[in-house]
Amino acid sequence: MSLPQEASEEPPFWQRPLATLSREQWEQLCDRCAKCCLHSLEERGSRRVYFTNVACRLLDLQQCRCRDYPNRSAEVPRCRTLTPELLADPYWLPDSCAYRRLAEGKPLPEWHPLRSGRAESVAESGNCVCGRVVREQQVKPAALKYHLIDWVRC
Ligand code: SF4
Ligand code: SF4
Repeated sequence: MSLPQEASEEPPFWQRPLATLSREQWEQLCDRCAKCCLHSLEERGSRRVYFTNVACRLLDLQQCRCRDYPNRSAEVPRCRTLTPELLADPYWLPDSCAYRRLAEGKPLPEWHPLRSGRAESVAESGNCVCGRVVREQQVKPAALKYHLIDWVRC
């Protein structure tokens, strides 16, 4: 009779503390939903954030990718480069954002590519914004309030 084996399987890397991840692992956390590339409005005093369907001028609406990722912060000053330190208070990110969810102790959603094994599962679940947004050049800042949208929540 063999003795029962101890479960030795390591948990997936995204269940480790965010500060311990390699750069490659950190980048893999992004599901490429591009929700964080939309303009948002924050209600004064409440910290409630409302997202719009108005996309940053650097977002490639076909590929759903930043057109100048390495220089994004210089090109667009309001674009924040995510770090573990910045995630200490991630209220300004979308509810579904993998970084926010992990920072808040929540699991990755089933449609996240790291769990589904398929990049397409983001769009299939309704969580990819591309095809459903307008360019910021088409919208005056004062009109942003008319573009609020409640994206799918997970
Ligand atoms: S909201 Fe989060 S997961 Fe989605 S594109 Fe932005 S950083 Fe990546
Ligand atoms: S600069 Fe790039 S990464 Fe930053 S918000 Fe715009 S499209 Fe997104």
